[in-house]
Amino acid sequence: MKIQKTGYHGLYFPGLGLSVDGYHPQADYTFVSHAHADHMPRNRSAKAMATAPTIDLMQKRGFKGSGKALKLGEPFENERFKVTLYPAGHILGSAMIFIESEKETILYTGDYRTPPSPASEGFESPDHADILITEATFSLPIYRWKPHDELQEEVRSFALQSLEEGYTPVFLGYNLGKAQEIMHLLAPLNLPVQIHGAGYKLCSVYEKHGIDLGRYSAYDRQSCEGKILICPSSALSNGFASNISKKRIAYCSGWAANESRRTQLTVDKMIPLSDHLDFFELIEFCKKLSPRKTYITHTPNPDVVKHYLDKENLESGFLDLDTDTKTHL
Ligand SMILES: [Zn+2]
Repeated sequence: MKIQKTGYHGLYFPGLGLSVDGYHPQADYTFVSHAHADHMPRNRSAKAMATAPTIDLMQKRGFKGSGKALKLGEPFENERFKVTLYPAGHILGSAMIFIESEKETILYTGDYRTPPSPASEGFESPDHADILITEATFSLPIYRWKPHDELQEEVRSFALQSLEEGYTPVFLGYNLGKAQEIMHLLAPLNLPVQIHGAGYKLCSVYEKHGIDLGRYSAYDRQSCEGKILICPSSALSNGFASNISKKRIAYCSGWAANESRRTQLTVDKMIPLSDHLDFFELIEFCKKLSPRKTYITHTPNPDVVKHYLDKENLESGFLDLDTDTKTHL
């Protein structure tokens, strides 16, 4: 199976006339795993096939191509391939893309998380794929997540304790996915939340698709004191809540599991809440799927993942997009 790179993170399968997560002029169809910017096709002529929430989110984020919604688990078929989307557990709408052709089956994970985010459609995977193309963002064995119940408790108690002691709690998290997951975890507290404007405009899509985000409004500098605030890390240096002197800041990311990050950030609390699976969950997933070949992408450390997969007798390699991958099979 020949695979070419297209766009920032996208792949193009010339033999099938389809691309994933990027536009290619010769692709009849572009399947999009989720609405994070590095996975969205940018070309206006892109015909995107994705879940309905992903298309809604893409349009809110400025996607100008045409979009066709596919239901999870309902295959799209033509004479060259059959594609089925499986819920990826990463953010709302995120899907793994399962491609079946005459010759082989390919699972492209996009970004994924299992156990899944509670602010997503859950996680499900096909039983087997000949070829697995997997992201490996947290590709070192130092990344092992705490149970989700514990992280949920950390989020809630950080908010409650800060407020009780007269501080305004500020959660740092991405505008799409992490922010809404934090809001969903906080929703049972029924406390007012203010979210950064870029994240706010995405919240209606979550609600439309049935995720409870609690009591929230858009960030307002004049009235934000004493509310629970959510914004991306970059917003703080741009003056977000700079008028509030008594605030406490929690950084919410899988990277918070890495102690060396603590010294790089001036925050009060590190909460290792990730929207990706951890290193051991990744290896376990590969074992369970048992592909003939695993290609590792989106990773700073492919060799470490490969080493662990070698130990499980699973053949793997970094996806070298300039060569015909057939030679590796
Ligand atoms: Zn993502």
